[in-house]
Amino acid sequence: MFAALSKYLDSELPARNCRQLEQHLRGCKRCVEYLETLKKTIRACRLYQAQSAFEKATEPLIREEDMRLSTLIREF
Ligand SMILES: [Zn+2]
Repeated sequence: MFAALSKYLDSELPARNCRQLEQHLRGCKRCVEYLETLKKTIRACRLYQAQSAFEKATEPLIREEDMRLSTLIREF
């Protein structure tokens, strides 16, 4: 069931299975809880990915800024 849940979150499940799953979720607390945990984990992962993408994008800029600063310091 749990594998189906993660597929459901990724919207990979066919509509028929999706409806079955939603019906199951109405009666299964354990799966609902699992789904909530999964959602949180996915959100955390996406956040982390966005952050590292941001860091990757800004790293050259920061390094450039660093170079400029050290050049300035040397000139003093
Ligand atoms: Zn269940």
